[in-house]
Amino acid sequence: MDKNFPLKGFGSAAIHAGHDQDPNYAHQTPIYASSTFVYDTAEQGMKRFAGQEEGYIYSRWGNPTFTEAEKKISALETFQLNIDAKGILHASGMAAISTLFLSNLKQGDKVLTHFSLYGGSEEIFYKLFPQFGIEAVITDLRQLNEVEDIIKKNRDIKMVYLETPANPTIQCVDIEELTKIAKKYNLKVACDNTFATPYLQQPFKFGVDFIVHSTTKFLNGHGTAIGGILLGTDADFMNAKASKVQRLLGGNSNPFDTFLLIQGIKTLEVRMDRHGENALKVAQFLEQHHAVRKVNYAGLPSHADHKVAMKQMKNGGGMLSFELKKGLQGGIEFMNKLKMCVRTVSLGTVDTLLSHPASMTHFGVPKAQREKYGITDGLIRMNVGIENHEDIMNDLEQAFTD
Ligand code: PLP
Repeated sequence: MDKNFPLKGFGSAAIHAGHDQDPNYAHQTPIYASSTFVYDTAEQGMKRFAGQEEGYIYSRWGNPTFTEAEKKISALETFQLNIDAKGILHASGMAAISTLFLSNLKQGDKVLTHFSLYGGSEEIFYKLFPQFGIEAVITDLRQLNEVEDIIKKNRDIKMVYLETPANPTIQCVDIEELTKIAKKYNLKVACDNTFATPYLQQPFKFGVDFIVHSTTKFLNGHGTAIGGILLGTDADFMNAKASKVQRLLGGNSNPFDTFLLIQGIKTLEVRMDRHGENALKVAQFLEQHHAVRKVNYAGLPSHADHKVAMKQMKNGGGMLSFELKKGLQGGIEFMNKLKMCVRTVSLGTVDTLLSHPASMTHFGVPKAQREKYGITDGLIRMNVGIENHEDIMNDLEQAFTD
């Protein structure tokens, strides 16, 4: 594509951004399955190591297949924003989150975050931070007045870490307001944008410094590869500190998974529109169903954070959760009766996936502890896929029936 051709639509950018003509004229950027890259001369090798000549050196440091995905996701996260961001692709969302924290924080620092987060991020706070002398201050980030008080009292807080919508209660926090508060105190702000994707929500628009994704989910879209990305607007920091930490920790992606990711991203806009349309229909169906006590979907006016979600997202996204009246046993029986929808724990795929945290991911967590985070016995988490919505609802209806 001619780089000077101005792309007006997000969907076109998802297809074309980040793509460079392959030197051998392959239509698709190949899977560069090469651990190392060669030099014409020793002098050329010297220049590449000295940073005086652009070029690849070693795939832990960079690879042409990674470059396309990094440029594509950066282009989407900054689409029509007049902001530049640098992306560093990682082996997983957790690898990207690890680079984020280890490149920004040192002993004695604190991170302010929300009480409902992806379990792996939470475990980093509880299980890894203490050994590095870093602390997480965990609160309800929807209470904006309290947030400012906490920051004033804790001068060691260096970063505010957001995830919105968050796992599994679909709580949403106000990126704009939280970033305004954080910036008054010179704090960095990072946002996990996995559930929304850049099509539905662009955190850089509100001034956040970093975005992380588990690209394993909606960006890939088909459940074919694990991956992650860290994006930042401070080019010097990203090129020096963040790249250094990523290279030393060895959290690089691999060319095959990246190839799958690139193909998946191309249909992001059409998939996210359909995920959102289907999820709203399913949420409305569940809300009036006699077997269901409560539905958590950011696109429903009954959701506590609906206003915030609609301020910062194009639609409510593809994720929802709901509580069955029948509790633990009811949840197990419901899951066992599903015929088309898939029983599994991941999300972001074209097919509808359901999980029952109390009998699966949170089986080992004491009931009182998990209930504090909204994970009740009958809670079902659902990735609403892009099948025809009648089939999704018919499957749920027959699974509700005794
Ligand atoms: N962030 C969110 C919101 C997630 O849901 C997940 C995984 O489910 C992660 C991060 C971690 O990503 P990965 O499994 O790719 O390491």
